[in-house]
Amino acid sequence: LIAAISLTANAQTSSSMKLSEAEITTKVDSLLKLMTLEEKVGQTVQYNGFWDVTGPAPNGANEAKKYDDLKNGRVGSMLSVRGVKEVRAVQKIAVEESRLGIPLIIGFDVIHGYKTLSPIPLAEAASWDLEAIKKSAQVAASEAAASGINWTFAPMVDISRDPRWGRVMEGGGEDPYLGSKIAVARVTGFQGEDLTDPLTIAACAKHFAGYGFAEAGREYNKAEFSAVTLHNVVLPPFKAAVEAGTRTLMNGFNEWNGLPVTANKYLLRDVLKDKWDFSGFVVSDWASIQEMITWGYAKDEKEAAIRAINAGTDMDMEGYVYNEALEELVENGTIDEEVLNDAVRRILSVKFELGLFEDPYRYCDEEREKTVIGSKENHEAVLDMAKKSIVLLKNEKNLLPLQKKNQHIAIIGPLVDDDNSPLGSWRLGSDDHTGVSFLEGMQAYKGNKISYEKGVSLISNDPQFTKELHVNTSDTTGFSKAIETAKTADVVVMVLGEHGFQTGEGRSRTVLELPGLQQELLEKVYEVNKNIVLVLNNGRPLLLNWAAENIPAIVEAWQLGTESGNAIAQVLYGDYNPSGKLPMTFPRSVGQIPIYYNKRNTGRPVDPAPGQEQVFWSKYIDEENSPLYSFGYGLSYTSFEYTNLKLNKDSFKTSGEIDVQVTLKNIGDVAGREVAQLYIHDKYASIIRPVKELKGFQLVDLKKGESKTIHFTLTDKELGFYDAEGNYKVESGEFSVFVGGSSEASLETTFTLED
Ligand code: BGC
Repeated sequence: LIAAISLTANAQTSSSMKLSEAEITTKVDSLLKLMTLEEKVGQTVQYNGFWDVTGPAPNGANEAKKYDDLKNGRVGSMLSVRGVKEVRAVQKIAVEESRLGIPLIIGFDVIHGYKTLSPIPLAEAASWDLEAIKKSAQVAASEAAASGINWTFAPMVDISRDPRWGRVMEGGGEDPYLGSKIAVARVTGFQGEDLTDPLTIAACAKHFAGYGFAEAGREYNKAEFSAVTLHNVVLPPFKAAVEAGTRTLMNGFNEWNGLPVTANKYLLRDVLKDKWDFSGFVVSDWASIQEMITWGYAKDEKEAAIRAINAGTDMDMEGYVYNEALEELVENGTIDEEVLNDAVRRILSVKFELGLFEDPYRYCDEEREKTVIGSKENHEAVLDMAKKSIVLLKNEKNLLPLQKKNQHIAIIGPLVDDDNSPLGSWRLGSDDHTGVSFLEGMQAYKGNKISYEKGVSLISNDPQFTKELHVNTSDTTGFSKAIETAKTADVVVMVLGEHGFQTGEGRSRTVLELPGLQQELLEKVYEVNKNIVLVLNNGRPLLLNWAAENIPAIVEAWQLGTESGNAIAQVLYGDYNPSGKLPMTFPRSVGQIPIYYNKRNTGRPVDPAPGQEQVFWSKYIDEENSPLYSFGYGLSYTSFEYTNLKLNKDSFKTSGEIDVQVTLKNIGDVAGREVAQLYIHDKYASIIRPVKELKGFQLVDLKKGESKTIHFTLTDKELGFYDAEGNYKVESGEFSVFVGGSSEASLETTFTLED
């Protein structure tokens, strides 16, 4: 015991507490030798918090058991413990009352901010601004760490092509290249340079792997995708996160290829731990080990434990399987003790990396909790992120930007005066109703007459994260006032969309139109005033066909977090020129889903020429193939022109590189930022390749009239692909290169890659 405690001393190698890998290995090995089997199993157990540990006594049998387990070293981690006071309390039990005093690692879903909220991750992805995304993760880490949290269950790096799935709000969209870059930005933002820095927390790339492919977009459904898709689409963002140093991964609720991913040895051991050499640990998703029994993949807890730990799941999140079953199974030799040791080593290593042995309370700082959380600087960072996340989908009749004076602006809609919904889903650390509503944001501008009418309610009960929402489908009593107000206005701004809790976990939808009576209200208002700016607050691509056809201006403002209203108002008034680009395709019809730009080639043409009749092409007889708004699309208050696409050579050998250059000019009237995108198409290969793949992008700021020549470099890294066995291949042949402002980029040139 004494030896174990003294392990925590003389940890300092430099001014930081950072230990070298070798030091950590030595300390972990010595600690492991001191641990009983029960204590080892304890490290693999994670319990949910959510009880008042600072109160007089645990309440109920479940809490009493958790308390008892904590005291006896049978718990390695807790999640969702709220605030410094509670973290201190649980940590104190683990450190002072258990035999070896091993500190807990405290996990929490810090998904898009802790108290000061950034936009939902899908919105942030629309910024394509990796620096801003990294900054946003830093802000989240600093606030969470100030509350005693060591570890976030983020980033979610699941690629998804299905807007029916409610959790698309939590990811980086549909593209593996953009998704990988964002994964790196988030992991490095959360973790910083040095995990012992008390402003940083450990990251967790989730859900490994394939959860974003839930069949038919139905939550918790099996995922259906090929091995080629696994290696080329699903895994790249995880690989990028691992290369960026994420200390943990979480597996998911889905199966792939008939195996729950929680017990998928190929993914967890062969790919993650062996091929990618991942040295951190893997936590299950909430009770996902236990769920293997419901799957019919394990007959009882014992079998579930054997399958999960042998496959490489190191920690059991609130599943009560490892703590019930592991000890006996190791004791009787069913599970090799080395398998358990490996899991424990990984978990202890991360605890050492975080400096928790040095000072288990180092993240608990009441003073910092008061000063860091909600600081002015953090509000400025999330406001900046929010403005950059907005995507201008349409702007006709010069409705935007709004004039700053002498306009009568009617603002209408259920989400206008809402300070809760824009916070989005997954914000367990923040308080409800702490967002800046759109109404408040607009009122900060004084020069115009503003009239507000709600028009209709979106939800008829009190919207909560853990409760079913009742969409209002009958009460239209507010329509008439809204219509009256709209009649006399110069411009009508309507704020419609989804409630923040209509997306997120457990919020799959089959109908992607504006929910409830909002479409009806929009059409009624349009009858009396056609000058409508539609501002959308939503967490997934919606079906907007009618609006796209009729409404002159459409602004995709997602759910933008704490500073939502200010960000939208500043964009509408032109104080920030929108620069976001869609990270997910917006379909025309649910029947097109899954719809995504980087589809693989087919053997038949997909787009009949206009006026040409052809039954047997790859198309629908009742809908176009093309989406309403494509991946990478987004407008600005200015316009950009791409010309002069050139390569520095016509051909080059593998392992060499080629330079792609293009001239980009701001041909409009105001300064703006363009996200210049480069796509490739590999024309012939040993597997069928996508029609286009994003392989580069740059954020280019241009003053009015200014032009810049920008360069991209292509190498084997961008030109290769994975085969169905996961081997990376770079094959010679002809490639097309496209550069432009969306995935519809049509400026094209070609080169040859030689052997
Ligand atoms: C989610 C995870 C989350 C966990 C802990 C699960 O339901 O799928 O993403 O981190 O709960 O809250």
